[in-house]
Amino acid sequence: MAKSKVTPSRQQYLDIKAQYPDAIVFFRLGDFYETFDDDAETAARELDLVLTSRPQGKNQRTPMAGVPHHAAEGYIARLIAKGYKVALAEQISTETVKGLMPREVVRVFTAGTVIEPGMLEAGRNNYLTAVIRDGDQYGLAYADITTGEFATTQINGRRPLTEELARLAPAELLVADNEHTLHDQSKTVTPLPNWRFEEGNARQTLRRHFGVSTLSGFGCENKPLAVRAAGAILYYLQETQRGAIDQVQRLATYSTEGYMALDTATRHNLELTESIGGDKSGSLLGVLNKTVTPMGARLLRQRVTRPLLNLDELNQRLDQVETFGNDGLLRADIRAALKGLPDLERLANRVLSGKAIPRDLENIRLALETVPEISEKLKIDDPRSKIDAHNPIINLQSLIINLDPCPETHDLISRAIADNAPTNFNKMGVIRPGFSAELDGVMNSSAHAREWVAQLEPRERERTGIQSLKVGFNKVFGYYIEISRANSHLAPDDYIRKQTLTNAERYITPELKEYETLILNAEERILEIERRVFIEICQQVAQFTPQLLQTAVTLARLDVAATLAEVAANFDYVRPVLSDESGMMVENGRHPVVEHSLNRERFVPNHSQFDSNDRIQIITGPNMSGKSTFLRQVALITLMAQIGSFVPATKAEIGLADRIFTRIGAHDELHHGRSTFMVEMVETAEILNHATHRSLLILDEIGRGTSTYDGLSIAWAVIEFLHNHPRLKPRTLFATHYHELVGLADMLPMVTNYNVAVAEEGDDVVFLHQIVPGGADRSYGIHVAQLAGLPRDVINRANEILEELERHAPTTSVEPSRFTPSQQMALFPETSPILEELADLDVNTLTPLEAINKLYEWKRRYAGK
Ligand code: ATP
Repeated sequence: MAKSKVTPSRQQYLDIKAQYPDAIVFFRLGDFYETFDDDAETAARELDLVLTSRPQGKNQRTPMAGVPHHAAEGYIARLIAKGYKVALAEQISTETVKGLMPREVVRVFTAGTVIEPGMLEAGRNNYLTAVIRDGDQYGLAYADITTGEFATTQINGRRPLTEELARLAPAELLVADNEHTLHDQSKTVTPLPNWRFEEGNARQTLRRHFGVSTLSGFGCENKPLAVRAAGAILYYLQETQRGAIDQVQRLATYSTEGYMALDTATRHNLELTESIGGDKSGSLLGVLNKTVTPMGARLLRQRVTRPLLNLDELNQRLDQVETFGNDGLLRADIRAALKGLPDLERLANRVLSGKAIPRDLENIRLALETVPEISEKLKIDDPRSKIDAHNPIINLQSLIINLDPCPETHDLISRAIADNAPTNFNKMGVIRPGFSAELDGVMNSSAHAREWVAQLEPRERERTGIQSLKVGFNKVFGYYIEISRANSHLAPDDYIRKQTLTNAERYITPELKEYETLILNAEERILEIERRVFIEICQQVAQFTPQLLQTAVTLARLDVAATLAEVAANFDYVRPVLSDESGMMVENGRHPVVEHSLNRERFVPNHSQFDSNDRIQIITGPNMSGKSTFLRQVALITLMAQIGSFVPATKAEIGLADRIFTRIGAHDELHHGRSTFMVEMVETAEILNHATHRSLLILDEIGRGTSTYDGLSIAWAVIEFLHNHPRLKPRTLFATHYHELVGLADMLPMVTNYNVAVAEEGDDVVFLHQIVPGGADRSYGIHVAQLAGLPRDVINRANEILEELERHAPTTSVEPSRFTPSQQMALFPETSPILEELADLDVNTLTPLEAINKLYEWKRRYAGK
């Protein structure tokens, strides 16, 4: 469309739209935000709006869809949840300029940059992340502008990158324009021009924002990829917020090495934050999250998604849980005090970003008011702490000293902000009388006028003798005197008629108008002064942000410690004993989630133990007997210990696991163009390539997705590899229906068999869910099929076929007794001394000459030549 043909306001819209091509532009027109053209079609479709059109030039109409401005937040939230961005073009003046209302984009809403409480989930962080790649090295940065968290790291390799992204579950991911391989990592992926990730630009953006000349203080001076990712985030925040982002006050450079790595599949399989079916209550977090503050809920979620490897820190966390566990009264007290506490972390950040409203300051005050009470409760004079120097009560001291009640801030807000202050600045009464001399002056000077108007009604009634005379106010006419039609002939001469109603006349007097002007002028000034004073107060409060945030974090830690103690007490968890060993012993372990869905009395606890001689456990047993539950249970108990939680068992000693790997069931990956079996093998390959001696492996039915012999062979070879490889011998639980694998325990010393006990009573089979030593020899698959309701005819026929197969068809049968050790030997060479020696050999340090000598030696020794 040629520029000259369009109306000025259309041209203004097109100019704005050209600046924000990838956002839906909400264009303010009076009391509405309108969308046009393609945006209108999208908005109408996604928000169920009526799509209208407005004439545009000759015979042309422009599609249009609008929402009322006061309800915009809800609509914007819905668009963002669907992965769109919204640019808000506001009228930035009340006067037109050359007949056109000036408009400008004041804010771009995107999933990773929203701050509106209504668009955020209280119990989880809202992360904006950025990733930049150089070869196989990645820079990853993330920020949550509602809490001020900003961190960056460098990661070597795609797999750990994906794992870290899985942990963060970013609301929005920024990538370089030409990076197409990361688009499945977040619901909202925003490509930025490559130069925004350019190192020089990034450094400059960061230095300027933080007002520093070097990034050394942040620990990333020499980590160019970390700098590039962090710079891109900051730039994007500045762009979308259209102004300073003061709440981002620090940048932390971190390393993923201090944490247990968990791949996406494992997070999913273990149902850490949501169940495989997608609901939250059926997850580990769902069971543990009895937090009573939003800050606590976010911290617990962070911990569940980021288990630690650091023994000291874990023991500290466990000490805190134990303290609250030992003292039920203290726990109840603290939880009661914390309950309903406002979100100090997000409130402090709103003040810092200049987005606070009076109610926010009031909430900060309320939160701070609770702090001394909490500190007081924590300063228990516990006689045990005197007797036993190692009493964990001491560990609460570190929390107590960080609980700063910020008296200056509290005092300032108490003095400055009125009780029940209005939620916006269109009404007076934000600032408490006595705080601002200027404000009080204006208030006083108008007080006389307000008093005069207040007394007008009785005065005039007396003067005129009209008892029904009223003084009123409306926005159009201001103050008026109202007399009924019947009495209107009694109106004094100085009354000027202003409006005639059906039954009454309204008048003004010159004096009334004078006082009205005084009152209205004063009101305007009061609103202006209140807003200005409020901003000043916010600036003063903002100076105490570090203390406020430290208090917020401490409250979150207290909440989490008391919560984990509460959960442990309610569900009979026990404190795990942690060590740097690679073994494990769990007595009467339970699955933390399944035990609830089953009703706890019915859940059968099970032991599990690994030590240096017992590394790989093969678990056979019928379908539906509880193998998968047991496997997940062992993994979850380990993970819970490593977030600093007590665990569902009667006793637990856990050697810290550097990783938990799971290969469980089939995911629906068909949309990625991979078959179930392919996915299974890719995951298995990952595990074999990355596991270490200190890992915990949960392998459920490896090899199931292919033909029996292929599957069995792969499963067999995997176990041999795990057992024989010098780097490996990880703690492994291997559930399988291939009963032939039971034979491995006779050949490989570190392999043990377990099965799930079954009681057969006549034709009936009862699953006892008890893990017992030894291998199983039957699957009871047909029995389970019967329970599932397969037609009787099919069940009978299946039983016939099974019998037939077991009797007559040795070559196709996988019945265990036919799979003799000699066949096994032929198929799978047993370990031999030469293989053991080979396994122990460090090829990296061997010289070629030593290698040749070794070969000669073996030939002489084992081949007799
Ligand atoms: P399949 O081999 O068919 O995959 P499975 O042996 O892995 O089955 P699970 O899925 O772990 O069996 O468990 C089947 C059901 O048994 C669970 O849904 C649960 O209700 C019950 N169950 C599992 N473990 C226990 C237990 N320890 N105590 C009581 N019930 C249990």
